[in-house]
Amino acid sequence: MFDQTLGPPVLPPLLNDLRAIVGLDGVLSNPEELLVYECDAYTLEKHLPNAVVLPRSTEEVVSVIKRCGMENLPIIPRGAGTSLSGGVLAVGGGVMIALTRMNKILSVDYRNRRALVEAGCVNAWVTNAVKSKGLFYAPDPSSQSACTIGGNVATNSGGPHTLKYGVTTNHVLGFELVLASGEAVWLGTKPDTGEDVDGYDLRGVVVGSEGMFGVVTRVLVRLERAPKAFKTMLGVFETVDAASQTVSDIISAGIVPGAMEMMDQLITQAVEAAYKFGFPLDAGALLIIELDGLAAGIPRQTERIIEICKKNGSREVRIAKSDEERALLWKSRKRAFGAIGRLSPNYLTQDGVVPRSKLPEIMRFIIETSEKVGLRIPNVFHAGDGNIHPLVLYDERDPDQVRRAVEAGNAILEKCVELGGSVTGEHGIGVEKADFMAKQFSTDDLDAMRTLRRVFDPDSRCNPHKMFPGSKRCSDFAPKKQIAA
Ligand SMILES: Cc1cc2nc3c(=O)[nH]c(=O)nc-3n(C[C@H](O)[C@H](O)[C@H](O)COP(=O)(O)OP(=O)(O)OC[C@H]3O[C@@H](n4cnc5c(N)ncnc54)[C@H](O)[C@@H]3O)c2cc1C
Repeated sequence: MFDQTLGPPVLPPLLNDLRAIVGLDGVLSNPEELLVYECDAYTLEKHLPNAVVLPRSTEEVVSVIKRCGMENLPIIPRGAGTSLSGGVLAVGGGVMIALTRMNKILSVDYRNRRALVEAGCVNAWVTNAVKSKGLFYAPDPSSQSACTIGGNVATNSGGPHTLKYGVTTNHVLGFELVLASGEAVWLGTKPDTGEDVDGYDLRGVVVGSEGMFGVVTRVLVRLERAPKAFKTMLGVFETVDAASQTVSDIISAGIVPGAMEMMDQLITQAVEAAYKFGFPLDAGALLIIELDGLAAGIPRQTERIIEICKKNGSREVRIAKSDEERALLWKSRKRAFGAIGRLSPNYLTQDGVVPRSKLPEIMRFIIETSEKVGLRIPNVFHAGDGNIHPLVLYDERDPDQVRRAVEAGNAILEKCVELGGSVTGEHGIGVEKADFMAKQFSTDDLDAMRTLRRVFDPDSRCNPHKMFPGSKRCSDFAPKKQIAA
């Protein structure tokens, strides 16, 4: 059954033409095949696309987009579908272009520390391919064993090590983008000549545009030299407040660790049950703090961090004794969302940001909200960035729980804005937070964003119904007032 709140249905002649472009096995159109694509990791809302196309080259993407353009059909770019904000929902139907078959690492330029990859290449594969040469690809979303570089570009993904290394935009030099017109353009540094493009940084404009500017097909990523040494610590605290204060104090002391991640008691218990790391189950909060860099500076910074943890009442600070222990600690942290199945059938992940100094306040607010709505809200998040991830637990079979989960999520995001933060740190706006854009931006700001979008996609065919409040395809391209050039 198609979601028939839709645009025009995809008729057999179009399906046949798409099959002629990508091959018989490259087009999915049966309802049972499409079911896989009805949502992403934001499971509160579901919409079936009319068809899914699985191209193998930029040329195929170009032909598919041109053919869909003849029917004025929306196109929805999709990577691995791990979006937590409903970024790949086919609201209103359309043809989904899934990049999962375009997953190759095309070339590595070790001398200039760059790799050219197809957009469907899984994030972790890049580091795996170059680590023997002492290199790595820095952005490390916790979903990195599944999510794609194209999806990372579209959402400007971060990860635990964003604190020191920055987000995707800091590590992507250039990429190929197929526009809604079917024209393929290269933005940013060119892969063959390494030539940088003068003028406006259109590469920077497209990073984070959530699939609304076109389909990214090939990406030139920057590779970093792997740090020579690591020191990975686990601070054990009685309260979330004390752990939050420690995060602020470490940064105030002028130390920028590679990562500072927090887990509260409930998530720690779920993670421990799943992965058996040996986390203390009675701790109020755990802080994973990782220093990396040249070996010389690390012992002094470690001492200082231990002092700060102790000053804030930490019960103990454990230090990973081996590379294996460090790897297991990160594995446990990065799979925390997966452990939620032990607590609840469903969860809604929020992705707010607050100034680091406001972490204690937002964490107290989350506890109050949890009590108010009567739902448990464990927390595991990028504390060093002030980027919170409260996980509101609910059971989708109970409509009242669904209502309360949404209420809790909205209240937390509103509080983030009130505290001077924002409604997304890294997961994007998607359909989930479109209405929040009006709370964070003025009408003029939103009109300017719509105008910019029309430069790339005049008819709003790429990933419609996302990001803008009350987003409807036809109103997307009618700004309320003319923006001066
Ligand atoms: C367990 C878990 C942990 C996570 N941890 C993190 C984290 O630490 N940090 C973080 O930033 N995110 C995290 N996420 C969210 C998600 O993994 C990221 O947003 C990721 O970048 C999405 O990549 P994807 O390939 O799955 O893209 P999708 O989910 O398929 O798509 C996401 C968006 O990108 C667009 N898009 C995808 N591919 C392309 C393309 N080739 N061209 C143009 N647009 C495209 C889509 O239209 C959509 O708007 C997590 C998700 C899960 C489920």
